[in-house]
Amino acid sequence: MRLPTVDELLANVRVIALPMRTKFRGLTVRETMLIAGSTDSSWGEFAAFTEYDDAESAPWLACAIEQAWNLGPTEHERPIFREIVRTNATLPAVEAAQVPAILERFGDFRTVKIKVAEPGQTLEDDVARVAAARDFVGDAGRVRIDANGGWTVDEAEHAIRALETFDLEYVEQPCATVAELADLRGRVHRMGILIAADESVRKAADPLAVARAGAADILVVKVAPLGGVRRALELLDEAGLPVVVSSALESSIGLEASFDLARRIEHLDYDCGLATNVLFERDVLPAVTNFGSFGATPGIVDENAAAELRVSPEREQWWRERAARCLELL
Ligand SMILES: [Mg+2]
Repeated sequence: MRLPTVDELLANVRVIALPMRTKFRGLTVRETMLIAGSTDSSWGEFAAFTEYDDAESAPWLACAIEQAWNLGPTEHERPIFREIVRTNATLPAVEAAQVPAILERFGDFRTVKIKVAEPGQTLEDDVARVAAARDFVGDAGRVRIDANGGWTVDEAEHAIRALETFDLEYVEQPCATVAELADLRGRVHRMGILIAADESVRKAADPLAVARAGAADILVVKVAPLGGVRRALELLDEAGLPVVVSSALESSIGLEASFDLARRIEHLDYDCGLATNVLFERDVLPAVTNFGSFGATPGIVDENAAAELRVSPEREQWWRERAARCLELL
């Protein structure tokens, strides 16, 4: 990939903080950097979480550069298999009584991902929340749960036995490590439970490592930590497991790179975690109303929104220096 110089990289950037509707991943605002590439209407997003070090953040910058400078695969190299990608609703670890109000925000969807194993909560809380969500989507809906690695293997097995009655599409990252996932998968396989790896799939080496360990039936992948669309497709080819494309809580600019990955994956049987823009109070593109699917929109930053969401000069400087350091690592 031909990289821009540091001056080219930083010539036209917007560092913004998107306010979250509900605390998510411990965040109430999502800081991120938008980068204009070869033209004013060609944007990429560098959204590495602020606690990540430069080595971990560098692939996210590679993804932003691929996007902003239009360096992704051509249709000849990687065909486009769909123009609409179905997306899931995401239900935070709220009380059961709040479930309908939150899910109504997502509009028309058929799949819900439910956060479980929240610190400070009990399995009873999870059961009540999953029951309420299953009620909401009905028998035709699809229900998956995401523990974010919060269970031990025994806790996960116990929880899965309590929750399987709700007909789970899959269980995402029930335990923290690849070895635990493999152990649990052996225990629940006979129950017809599928295990998806999410946090275990971050770095470029991970998809293949998870597949080789027999730790998961499904890979949840985010395009930015894998270094962009081109690289992600290569890694997924090698891993050979079904894939769910998920966002990393990017603005709608970054979501387009995820969307581009999703439309170039031939078999995409599970709805993708790309409707996360509903979690923001404001965004830098005109509002998307149908969250059950994600279609291509021209990704041009709304400058009024970007100006209003702009971070302090100190934060902007922090991001510029970080991007420059990460560029050195590519
Ligand atoms: Mg997850």
